[in-house]
Amino acid sequence: MQRRSFLIASGAALTAGVEARAQAGKASRTRYIPCEEAFSIPEVVEEARRIAGGVPSMSTGLIAGPLLPLLLDLGDGRIRAMDEAGIDVHVLSLSSPGVQNFESATAVSLMQLANDRLAAAIKAHPTRFAGLAAVAPQDPAATAKELERAVRSLGLRGAIVNSHTRGEYLDDQKFWAIFEAAEALDVPIYIHPREPSPGMAAPLSLPGFTVGWGYAVETGTHALRLIARGVFDRFPKLRIILGHMGEMLPFMLDRIDNRYRFETGLFPQGKLARLPSEYFREHFFITTSGMNFEGPLLAAIKAVGVDRVLYAVDYPFEDQPMAVKQIDAMPLSAMDRRKVCELNAKRVFKL
Ligand code: MN
Repeated sequence: MQRRSFLIASGAALTAGVEARAQAGKASRTRYIPCEEAFSIPEVVEEARRIAGGVPSMSTGLIAGPLLPLLLDLGDGRIRAMDEAGIDVHVLSLSSPGVQNFESATAVSLMQLANDRLAAAIKAHPTRFAGLAAVAPQDPAATAKELERAVRSLGLRGAIVNSHTRGEYLDDQKFWAIFEAAEALDVPIYIHPREPSPGMAAPLSLPGFTVGWGYAVETGTHALRLIARGVFDRFPKLRIILGHMGEMLPFMLDRIDNRYRFETGLFPQGKLARLPSEYFREHFFITTSGMNFEGPLLAAIKAVGVDRVLYAVDYPFEDQPMAVKQIDAMPLSAMDRRKVCELNAKRVFKL
């Protein structure tokens, strides 16, 4: 929930707090400095449009979207919106996927241009803006050099990488000059999402992480594909069970709904009869296999309801006595424990 609506929803008790904040001296009150705030520049938008061949999509950086004027505003309009929201500083970064889809030489020159424009905006509004440098991993050496310029000469505070660059990830040593530069400059690198790469299978098979992460992303994505392709409209009584506390989906439902609304608002071709979370909560059950951990269990119960969470161990891959100790230690009411461990299974499997 956003702070403003939280305050409204929380009612009169917090009104005094809002007034206190408004009246408090600047030195004493909390400052709001959100740090993933996007902008773009016309030249980057133009190149994104050119390589997209005029096809609007999320992957081309919202080039057709109604948000474009807001992204391009690095001045009074943005500051007015910040003031209205009670935001002090935007830590700005070039909107995803930045210059990372472009041919190398173009990417390098647009990276530099974007960083120059960002620096100019910060110089014009030094108390309201800070920024992270755009990068062009297509040319790691040029990016390392640009990062040094961005930090030392332009005053930027780090870099933002929009995940993969034309299908390649930063674990490839050819990119490590960028890490070397960031470390030497003592600045952070913000890894921001973008659309998945064609070769996502390989990263999901990262040795040592294939199961704990790769399985969840792969299986969770499979489940979302069923929702997205209308399986549950065609089969309204179908029920699906997901292990491992729902393969991360319960924790993502609110974000998935929120961005689904946004994305289908721009590109309605993917629109479903209901919200993704509605399909999930009606058609899916989740189990605790390998995930008998308090935080995820309580969050999952909150997300999908205790009637949809079933106990599982994943024997022999998991330590069975440990899994029993773990579920016993969960802070559940007697009835909720019985539902999770027994009654839900009886109902779902007609035992
Ligand atoms: Mn973002």
